[in-house]
Amino acid sequence: MIKRKLIGILAVITVILTVFALPVAAENDDTAENTAQGGLIALTFDDGPSIHTEKLLDGLKKHDAHVTFFIVGNRLDEYPELLIREYDEGHEIASHTWDHSDLVKLSPSEMAENLQKTEDKVYEILGFNIGPLNVRPPHGSVNETVEANADIPLILWNVDTGDWQSRNAEAVKEHIISHAHDGAIILLHDLYESSVDGVLAAIDELEDQGYTFVTVNELFRRKGQELTPGVTYTNAKSDGIDLGPLPEGESAQPIIEEEPEKDNNKDKEDKKSNDEEDEGYPLFLVAVCALVLIAFALGMLHTFGIITLPLPLEQMEQKRPEKRNRKR
Ligand code: ZN
Repeated sequence: MIKRKLIGILAVITVILTVFALPVAAENDDTAENTAQGGLIALTFDDGPSIHTEKLLDGLKKHDAHVTFFIVGNRLDEYPELLIREYDEGHEIASHTWDHSDLVKLSPSEMAENLQKTEDKVYEILGFNIGPLNVRPPHGSVNETVEANADIPLILWNVDTGDWQSRNAEAVKEHIISHAHDGAIILLHDLYESSVDGVLAAIDELEDQGYTFVTVNELFRRKGQELTPGVTYTNAKSDGIDLGPLPEGESAQPIIEEEPEKDNNKDKEDKKSNDEEDEGYPLFLVAVCALVLIAFALGMLHTFGIITLPLPLEQMEQKRPEKRNRKR
């Protein structure tokens, strides 16, 4: 009898230790997973298109990475087919003005004219209007007047690769990898082959760390933020709401109109299924642990005669003589 009690107590201790240890193990796994999960990064390319844009597009296609091209309007007549490829392959077309003008130095009407001219050229080449283009002010030059007169969001960056200075692929790659973080907006230029080689090498490595490369528009959307005209953005901090990936078939361009109800529901479903995926593993473990604990607890209560469980015949027969013994 004492031996039996000892076995019972040991079993209970084992179960309790398992129940407490497993969630801790699962949590540790989670931490490892989070590091590996990386996050979302918006790679942005200013000043193009150029002769190196094609190599960049080929590389991005291989990785299924989407980026944002802040094009210079007056370069488009030289590379119309590259603009079409950028758009067709799911990248965001954004504006870096018509002629790389410093917006701070333009009058409000000059600024409006300059940006409109760029949009018109984009539409002319694509053959249709893709809506207003997000703007990256050349040299990152913005002030209150520019903001007050801008009818589009102004997108800066929080990681400057210095690619136009270094002109060194290895330096570009290292800078991107060492500064990569969820919500980052990374500044690059598709004017240089070193930038293209560096960024493609960095994508290779960051993908293994679990990073996903999205357009500026999608980055903010996924971080639950609506881009507002006249506001300057440098990165996308999450407020905890993921509005989900861009709906299937939707272009990478900013969304101006209210989204239809149907799409919102789809996003909620997407978010829900993402959450379930994220929490599925530890929840499953906890459920298994709880079931094991309940089964053991019932077994123990049964063993010590506090409750009677309908057990297989063999065990019932073993129990009966014991009860008789007790009565005596
Ligand atoms: Zn520029």
